[in-house]
Amino acid sequence: MKILKFGGKSLANDGIEKVLSIIAGLAKTEPISVVVSARGNTTDELEALLEKASKGEDYTADFQQLKDEQQYNDSVSFESEFQLLEKLLEGVSLLKDYSPKTKDLVLAQGELMSAKLVATLLQQKGLESTFVDSREIFKTDAVVGNAQIINSISKKLTRDRFATISPNCVVVVTGFIASTEKGDTTTLGRNGSNYSAALLANYLNASELQNYTHVDGIFTANPELVPEAKIIRHLSYEEANELANFGASILHAKTIIPLIEKGIPLRIKNTFNSEDAGTLIHQESVQEGIKSISVIKDNALIVMEGRGLLGKVGVDARIFKALAQKGISVSIISQGSSERGVGLVVASKDAKLAKAAIDEEFSHDFYTNDVSSVSIVEDVAVISIVGQPLATFHHPYNALIRNQIVPLLINNAVTGKNVSLVLKTEKLHKALNVIHGEIFGVSRRINLVIFGKGTVGATLIDQVIAAHDNILHRKNISLRIVAIANSQQVLTNAKGIGSHWRSAFDKEAVPYSFDTLQAFVDKHHLENLIAVDVTASKTFVDNYIPLIKSGYDLVSANKIANTISFDFYQELRKTLKQHQKTYLYETNVGAGLPLIDTIRLLHHSGENITRIKGIFSGTLSYLFNTFSAENKPFSEVLQHAINSGYTEPDPREDLCGNDVGRKLLILARELDLGNEFTDVKIQNLIPEHLREGSVQDFLQRLDEFNAPYQQIKEAQAPDHVLRYVGDLHGDLASTETVQLDVSLVSVPRNSALGQVKGADSIFEIYTESYGDNPIVIQGAGAGASVTARGVFGDILRLAEKSRF
Ligand code: ASP
Ligand code: MG
Repeated sequence: MKILKFGGKSLANDGIEKVLSIIAGLAKTEPISVVVSARGNTTDELEALLEKASKGEDYTADFQQLKDEQQYNDSVSFESEFQLLEKLLEGVSLLKDYSPKTKDLVLAQGELMSAKLVATLLQQKGLESTFVDSREIFKTDAVVGNAQIINSISKKLTRDRFATISPNCVVVVTGFIASTEKGDTTTLGRNGSNYSAALLANYLNASELQNYTHVDGIFTANPELVPEAKIIRHLSYEEANELANFGASILHAKTIIPLIEKGIPLRIKNTFNSEDAGTLIHQESVQEGIKSISVIKDNALIVMEGRGLLGKVGVDARIFKALAQKGISVSIISQGSSERGVGLVVASKDAKLAKAAIDEEFSHDFYTNDVSSVSIVEDVAVISIVGQPLATFHHPYNALIRNQIVPLLINNAVTGKNVSLVLKTEKLHKALNVIHGEIFGVSRRINLVIFGKGTVGATLIDQVIAAHDNILHRKNISLRIVAIANSQQVLTNAKGIGSHWRSAFDKEAVPYSFDTLQAFVDKHHLENLIAVDVTASKTFVDNYIPLIKSGYDLVSANKIANTISFDFYQELRKTLKQHQKTYLYETNVGAGLPLIDTIRLLHHSGENITRIKGIFSGTLSYLFNTFSAENKPFSEVLQHAINSGYTEPDPREDLCGNDVGRKLLILARELDLGNEFTDVKIQNLIPEHLREGSVQDFLQRLDEFNAPYQQIKEAQAPDHVLRYVGDLHGDLASTETVQLDVSLVSVPRNSALGQVKGADSIFEIYTESYGDNPIVIQGAGAGASVTARGVFGDILRLAEKSRF
């Protein structure tokens, strides 16, 4: 025989037909007994009616509403239940009070009406069915509200009663209610129908208990809060019980124990999706330990502080005594080893009373200054990670800190593998997602905000979107662009912007401000944020520090932040450190070439870098490679570079050498040298008389370059070529004598610098260990797609790093 239990939500008007067809389907093949809760919210409504009546308020309208709701169709009359309720409520209203015994009798009517209805409807469907009032078979002690079952008597009564019923008959039994041996109605505690069903399964040696709810089963976290939550298909009884302590009432120890005794599996299924196999709870665990995250909301943290608590005997006993006297239960207690403070988590509704009780108990200690304060932190939630061993707790914990969520209190269970975190409710949603992503490794989300959608930005956006599935598959990282902004507008999508971002931006972008963006991020509880600066802006850098403080890591292709004052450079790094954020900018020098990373590794590993020399600008590389190799006037080569888009719109920005100077400065600072831009000696390639004036005018006068450059070219030694070279050299151990030079030099054609072709960059890194043979990094050092790739590389580095 199988026992089926249906909860209130399943039995509400929109579920009851489904319930009937599930029963009818299963009853075709095997004997079935059904345990039902009261329908919908009937129990809550009955409780509320009692309250109203006991206050002498008018409850008739509410009562009428309840009656209407119960009347599913005309075939079943609940006249006797309604009359009894009417009488009881009248009495309560007169007395302005009710006994727990009365309450049990009132609440019992919900289950009675429900069971009667289901049995009748099954009969109407042509099934053989009968209704059994569980008060006849389940006997309890006389404690009302939460009575204890007397197993020996109940088992016998149940078996005797069922022996009189044909196996083909579907027996519909009331959950939740029982009676004393004298016959007074009792209840088994709220949500007690699950327990009733487990008892019935035990007494009748059922082959399985199926518990029908309105969700598919037990999840790794509440799917309403964590979209990535996954269903847990198998749980052992023990694991289920561990979860039960954190709010899953279906799994309460009371429910599980009768099942364990007989090894009866419990299957949790969804009435509204009954095809799904649900979660099966049985003897053996098939997985290597389970993990699930559960939440208890509406809590408050009581904090008691005082120097005098140190080493005092009996402080905790007094706290608990004071709270116990008021009937307040404490879910978590935490006490520092120095005993200067004690933290207690209680239900929100008890917080004020708890504080008052402690204040009173310790009034004398306030007087002697042993206790300095008792305060309430309202609106806290407890997240429990069930099955979380302490040895790997740093993963979720670090992830929280990286997302600027600092728990108020942490507590690990002495038994079992559980860690509970107490935090402010406003952080709950985000915290759950961060922890879930971390411990289940299911598509940990990285949320990108891209600033700038120019050539590099647009290329990057396309690259990230195209690579999404691949990265998800290979690295379990869901890299999503949640916002794209330019200086005026921003396009957002918390689920990730897709490949049609260009048209979406035109249609849906809204005016940009830092606050609009922040409001969006907060609203959607976005975690693991990376801000990507692919603007050419000189002022966007003002946002860096606010972004870091708001919890972003940074990736930038923009050189400004690293080349304005050394004070800012240091302040930025200090802020990063304080907030445990990372800033990557590999493309600042040599586009996608792994230059900065290499230098950083060498430098941090203690390798003494003695010189870095190279061709830093792809544009100028092209210009002088071509000019040296071909017999053409300088202006013609320059014009070709302009036409091919190799230069900035105003080519003087390349030719003045500042860009190379900045790159050199960035490398110097990477080596912990405190240089400023003014320290870089730059040879400006623009003839003096062309440095001022409009771009148009300048572009008209390119042939004025020809004479001086032809002269320079011809003055070279044989087999020499021109290269525009950045050179960092000198005594690197002292900041004072390091030299940063950017100049046009003549080098042998067959030297490393001399053989460079096209628009390639080349960097020679000289170090003590490598002696006269430098490490050489060479390749395309400019261009939108290699720069975007380089930025993408930084994003991936951060994404992977955020795992630890
Ligand atoms: N109807 C009762 C309650 O709501 C028992 C149950 O649903 O399990 O608590
Ligand atoms: Mg219920």
